[in-house]
Amino acid sequence: MSRRKKLYEGKAKILYEGPEPGTLIQHFKDDATAFNAQKRATLEGKGVLNNRISEFIMEHLNRMGVPTHFIRRLNMREQLVREVEIIPLEVVVRNVAAGSIATRFGIPEGEPLPRAIVEFYFKDDALGDPLVAEEHISAFNWASPQEIDEMIALALRVNDFVSGLFAGAGIRLVDFKLEFGRLYDQNDMPRVVLADEISPDCCRLWDMATNEKMDKDRFRRDLGNVTEAYAEVARRLGIMREMDSANGAGETTGAGETVESEQDKA
Ligand code: 5GP
Repeated sequence: MSRRKKLYEGKAKILYEGPEPGTLIQHFKDDATAFNAQKRATLEGKGVLNNRISEFIMEHLNRMGVPTHFIRRLNMREQLVREVEIIPLEVVVRNVAAGSIATRFGIPEGEPLPRAIVEFYFKDDALGDPLVAEEHISAFNWASPQEIDEMIALALRVNDFVSGLFAGAGIRLVDFKLEFGRLYDQNDMPRVVLADEISPDCCRLWDMATNEKMDKDRFRRDLGNVTEAYAEVARRLGIMREMDSANGAGETTGAGETVESEQDKA
């Protein structure tokens, strides 16, 4: 593993060169950061859970024809993905007011929005990922008007599907953040595909019965039991059998996980 070429290290993930041209290995770390990395922690088992939850969702999306970068999971913390040219935007879809939209417009947190709202933020840590208009995106050439339309359409399809997936598990998808990239075909024509991850790190997930938070806001707001909440999301989605939430999600937690072979871990 140490001889692999590291291409990029972010706050919660590492990208390594993949086994074949055009592929990358996406590694999920246990590190958590918030408020532009001013708050940091290591949450044991978070990377394992996010790898599994994101795999589960991306596989469903691939099957229903939403193009994603996901190819397959390699081991507990890693997945094989297609190398894409990342579009420097965070695409946020909101169903219920929470977080920055609640603050910006003075909407009480928890109020349902009249319809799903798609927002774009420019991915730039130094600037604090500012909210941008479509005009900025096309004028500064971050994406073409056609790509903007494609991202909005894909984001809304993902929202419909993933909202339903979570609703079936008694979880409300309040909002989430997506990232997209360009995949070039043999004729060098770009196609917009979903990249990055979909996990409790980048979604707001509330228990439908109690409104309890089951996502990264537990870390941001010091609510405790962060990995336990992620493990509960995985358990409800049926990803991890017999998840022992008391143990968090260590590498050996859960009956389905303890039997993973060394080859799988390589
Ligand atoms: P807000 O704009 O309310 O802070 O965030 C909206 C949604 O997008 C939340 O689900 C939040 O988790 C996600 N989100 C926004 N920016 C980021 C980011 O930089 N990293 C991650 N992991 N999630 C983000």
